[in-house]
Amino acid sequence: MPEKTKPILCGKCRVPVEIVMLNEDRESARCGTCGMQATLHEAIRTVGDYIVDNMAHQVIEDLKTRAPGDRFMHISERFSEVFQYDFVVELSV
Ligand SMILES: [Zn+2]
Repeated sequence: MPEKTKPILCGKCRVPVEIVMLNEDRESARCGTCGMQATLHEAIRTVGDYIVDNMAHQVIEDLKTRAPGDRFMHISERFSEVFQYDFVVELSV
């Protein structure tokens, strides 16, 4: 089974980041466009947060579709804020 991977993107420039080897056991994710840099570990954690928040947003959007009205408005407003992530991935729609 072929493994499907997605590149980590810079949250600002939306371009794939470079993975740079700092030393034997430390890798860094760096944006070649804006120069933003973090350890690979931090970058992956940020991407994880991004995915979780987006999933939560999608679930709420789905609930709104199923139960139209203002019942979920107070929840959706919280999640419709624009979050800024240093690192993201392309999410399949
Ligand atoms: Zn960038």
